[in-house]
Amino acid sequence: MFARNTSKRKGEITIKTVLITGASRGIGSAVACAFAEKGYSIIINYNRSKNKAKALASELSDKFKVGCKTVKADVSSPDEVRAMFSETGYVDVLINNAGISNQRLFTDITDEEWKRTIGVNLDGVFYCCREALPHMILQKSGVIINISSMWGEVGASCEVHYSASKAGVIGLTKALAKEVAPSGIRVNCIAPGVIMTDMMSDFDKETLDELVKETPLGRLGTPQDIASAALFLASDSASFITGQTLGVNGGLII
Ligand code: NAP
Repeated sequence: MFARNTSKRKGEITIKTVLITGASRGIGSAVACAFAEKGYSIIINYNRSKNKAKALASELSDKFKVGCKTVKADVSSPDEVRAMFSETGYVDVLINNAGISNQRLFTDITDEEWKRTIGVNLDGVFYCCREALPHMILQKSGVIINISSMWGEVGASCEVHYSASKAGVIGLTKALAKEVAPSGIRVNCIAPGVIMTDMMSDFDKETLDELVKETPLGRLGTPQDIASAALFLASDSASFITGQTLGVNGGLII
């Protein structure tokens, strides 16, 4: 039996709620699974993959006997994010995971691609934090975990728009952590390395083999590697950690 993640309020046991953006697939889906196993009530945000999100929700509620709902929102839209939070209500933990990437020579990036990448990867984090925080501030507790990228730390050739968006997420995390720490809220980043999801589907075997060779721990990452880091950052074991960027990359960048 898994341990329920609970908090006490006015003598009552309350199950904590986590909202994960982009949880229909990949890393977000593994994060949802890990938090469900710990007894959290789960809110799965999706944009396009409705069937996958619904299937995951029913799998998690059957397997772990937790509350699990799905909510559609394009995180780059402030109106859709506002509507999502009106529908879901308060959350104790927010995980900003939704993201997109594409490879382009810098001089080929169109205005539309630039705006869309910043819109989903950075504006989306801003909109979701803005909706989640008022309740966290009232209850004087809360955890926000933003999924950045190692490319936000060191920059990736042919992914300038992606790298800029992810560097922005790190900056947002540091500044917001300082601002809301007095309200008992912690804000941290995870910067994944190469994690095998649909996002890596454009990479051929030769490139992936090369990346394994370059990774000191000798393998590529899994979505579960990121989920474990998120569980740690959300837990009381991380109660003195805020404003940090936790690299989960097998040593690829140190
Ligand atoms: P993925 O498999 O492509 O999944 C992306 C997820 O984001 C999907 O659930 C998708 O939902 C959601 N999403 C995309 N646009 C959205 C939008 N506008 N609104 C709401 N949700 C949206 O990617 P992943 O590898 O799991 O990536 C998850 C996060 O980790 C991203 O922020 C990514 O930048 C970061 N990351 C990944 C890697 C890696 O190697 N995989 C490395 C570093 C960082 P729908 O399908 O429902 O639209």
